[in-house]
Amino acid sequence: MIDRRRFIQTGFAAAAASTVPATAHARAPMAQRNGSTFHRFKVGDFEITALSDGAIGVPVALTTRLDPARHRALLADQMKPDPVPTSVNVFLVNTGSQLALIDAGAAASMGPGLGQLQANLAAAGIKPEDIDLIALTHVHPDHSNGLIRADGKAAFPNAELVVGQADAAFWLNEANAGQIAKDFSPFFGMAKTALAPYATRTRTIAAGDVMTGVTAIAAPGHTPGHTVFRISSGQKQLLILGDTVHSPATQFIHPEAAVAFDVDQDTAVASRRRLFDLAAADRIPVVGMHLDFPGVGYIQRKDSAFSFTATPWQETF
Ligand SMILES: [Zn+2]
Repeated sequence: MIDRRRFIQTGFAAAAASTVPATAHARAPMAQRNGSTFHRFKVGDFEITALSDGAIGVPVALTTRLDPARHRALLADQMKPDPVPTSVNVFLVNTGSQLALIDAGAAASMGPGLGQLQANLAAAGIKPEDIDLIALTHVHPDHSNGLIRADGKAAFPNAELVVGQADAAFWLNEANAGQIAKDFSPFFGMAKTALAPYATRTRTIAAGDVMTGVTAIAAPGHTPGHTVFRISSGQKQLLILGDTVHSPATQFIHPEAAVAFDVDQDTAVASRRRLFDLAAADRIPVVGMHLDFPGVGYIQRKDSAFSFTATPWQETF
């Protein structure tokens, strides 16, 4: 039997031998994009696949209700720059008999950092036509513009679309533009374009059953129909938090911090506290669309606020 010291020595010798190159074969071009593609884990009998749509820089100036000096201090503590590199995640739920995609990413609408969902679905072995249902957490471009291809046709030809009633009503009526900051008024046109090819196969919901094992929880504020999904298989659960959190660096410590594109900041803060409380009290694992990819972990109460522990290598919940 090989002892520990010998194992280490042998290992080092092998490693040293393999790192001495005989010749330099070629200069490789810089690959530029990273390899965060998909990540799988089980919740009961269901298989969840976290899919990266990429990342985008979110400027600190978009945060509200948090002292900027405190914000900068929290970022410095966590070695994060401004703009804060922020994941955009999509989640696939395979119940064994159906495939549901929760959100659809941004496609090409928000710059080259995003729009990687289709490539990463392919990497995960999933074809767009295999998706039975797409449930949106809300109708914002980083979540819904990936519903369509560059030619404007449905990117998911066979999927039923499930959208919060209040979001469909709000974003499909440009008369509501006065209720949000002017910078974000293009969201209305984008919503109309992205949802149009699904018009004959759209189901609007408030709360309750979406499909077997997937239940909608109304979590309004960020948008009027912002929805969180509870995934249940046997005794196991997962909460898909949508945009309950935009800024993992600040909003667990300061759940009262909001963002400029919340339609109703008071209600958004109340929903965030309620969802964080639920996840912490019942020890339900969560995923979030803007938690660092793959975006899975646990929320705990900490002092008068919360903390988040990522669990990227836990494969069974
Ligand atoms: Zn978002």
